Order: sequence, then C-alpha cells, then structure tokens
Amino acid sequence: RAKASGTNRVEFYDRRVNQEFYEYFHVENDLRKALDRGEFELYVQPQFHTTTGELCGEEVLVRWQHPTQGMIGPSKFISIAEETGLIVPIGEWVLREACKLKAKWIKAGFPKVPMSVNLSLKQFLQKNIVQTIEMILNETGLPPEYLDLEVTESVTVDLDRTLDVLNRLIQLGVRISLDDFGTGYSSLQYVGQLPIHELKIDQSFVKKIGDGKHGEAIISMIIHLGHSLQLKVIAEGVETKQQLAFLKNKGCDYVQGYYYSKPLTVDQYKQFLRV
Ligand code: C2E
Ligand code: MG
Ligand code: MG
Ligand code: MG
Repeated sequence: RAKASGTNRVEFYDRRVNQEFYEYFHVENDLRKALDRGEFELYVQPQFHTTTGELCGEEVLVRWQHPTQGMIGPSKFISIAEETGLIVPIGEWVLREACKLKAKWIKAGFPKVPMSVNLSLKQFLQKNIVQTIEMILNETGLPPEYLDLEVTESVTVDLDRTLDVLNRLIQLGVRISLDDFGTGYSSLQYVGQLPIHELKIDQSFVKKIGDGKHGEAIISMIIHLGHSLQLKVIAEGVETKQQLAFLKNKGCDYVQGYYYSKPLTVDQYKQFLRV
C-alpha cells in the first residue's frame, strides 16, 4: 500500500512537471509571435500626491491579449520573456509605445506628469540600452523629463556598470525610480550610491499596515531613508483608506493603488482624466 501510494505520488508529480513544461513551451512559442501579431497592450495606472490627491504620474503596465487564453498579466509571462531574451524586443516595444503615447498626450494638453515604464534586468544590461532610449526619445519627440524608468534592486548585480548606465540615463534627462524597494538583497547596501530620484515601497510592506508590528516600522524607515537621501518616496499597492492615512501621516510623497484606481486601458484612463 505504502509502495503504491508512493508510486502514485511520483506519477502525480511527473504529470504536474510535464504540464508546467507544456505550458512553458507553449507560452514561449506564442510569445515569439505575439509582437508581430500585435497582441500586447498598454494599461495605465495613475499615481497621486498623498497630501492633495492630485495626479503626479502614471505607470505603464503591459498586458498580453492572447488569441485563445484571453488577457494574460505580466506576472505570467515576464519571467519567461526574461529567460528567453524575448524581453528585449518586448520591452523596447513597450518603451516606444509609451513614449509615443505620452508625447501625444503632452501635445494634447493632458496633465504634465511623468510616465513610468518598467525596465527588466536583462533589458537594463543590454549593451546599447542608453542609445536605445535616446533613440526612442528622439523618434517620438518626448521631452525626457516625462519619462520615468523603473528598475529594481537586481540591477546592483553589476554595480560599476549600473552606476555608469544610470548616470548616462540621468544625463539624457529621464527620471529613475527604484521599484519593489525592500524586497531585494541589496536594499541598504547600495541605495545611497545609486543616482535615482525615487524609492518605490513594495506593496508587500503596504499590506502590513495595520498589523501594528514590523511592517509599519519598515515603511517609516524607508520613508525616512528616502527623504534623507533627498529622494521622493512612493507607496504601491495602496488599497484602503487606513493605508492611505498611515502613509500620509508618515510623510510618504506619493501613492499608487486600487484605492484610487486599478490599471486602466488607454481609453478608460482618458475617461478617468476627463480629457
Ligand atoms: P510593478 O512594476 O511593481 O507593478 C505593480 C503591480 O502591482 C502591477 O501588477 C499592478 O497592477 C499591481 N497593483 C497596483 N496597485 C495595486 C493594488 O492596490 N493592489 C494590488 N494587489 N496590486 C496592485 P501587474 O500589472 O500584474 O505587473 C506585475 C509586474 O510585472 C510589475 O510589477 C512589473 O515588475 C512587471 N511589468 C509590468 N509591465 C512591464 C513591462 O512593460 N516591462 C517589464 N519589464 N516588466 C513589466
Ligand atoms: Mg515611478
Ligand atoms: Mg513598476
Ligand atoms: Mg513594484
């Protein structure tokens, strides 16, 4: 009996592994065609001043409209895109589309706030990343101060190179945010050395507001740290009035989250702005 159930367990395990492989394999193949087929779409999530509730920025988040599987979120495909290198063309597409859109919105008189675009590690480490971004800014005519690039602490894997790339990006005139701050290995070791404008408190800390324990202490610490480094601090994943009140009380500059708005399609976002 024990032997039989052991065997079953192995079979069950194998089947699951196979299924994961199967899914991975198909996602990779479909991902290769998705760009040509125009299946990616930009969603936009607004960001706000904590004190006044005024709009202060907007983050672009990519979605994949799969022909048979429906809408797929980035958590399902960005890591596969990273491993296969497909993130490079996909990320470049997102950047170009975002800059085109923002340039159009600035011309049309929409709010003059920066648009944030996520850069994955692999994309950031591309030899020509600075030239690519410069080229896209030139092509689209977007004034660089309206582009905010979100990188994670993972970029500190190669600190010298990262400092060089960040400095050159800043020379271009774009803004840099450190996304998911506090979840990486290097948070405190490198943050003071990085030429950046903003710390983005990871939503896992925001979720802990109200627990009366270390979660709140860590948020207060990040806000202090950011401000003493002359950085702006934004909290992501803000869902409740209580979280907003806590962040306001602690002097967090900006907030982003479902409390104000989910990521919206471009049309929904325009309605949201009432433009
Ligand atoms: P992120 O850059 O940290 O983006 C924040 C994520 O939190 C987004 O998930 C957003 O929809 C979600 N979110 C925002 N407010 C709330 C809230 O109040 N509650 C909860 N529970 N979630 C909230 P999303 O769109 O699924 O994106 C996941 C991650 O995928 C992003 O995390 C980012 O790392 C990556 N990603 C998204 N778009 C791109 C892209 O164009 N390029 C690259 N390289 N990565 C991207
Ligand atoms: Mg930002
Ligand atoms: Mg982000
Ligand atoms: Mg984040």
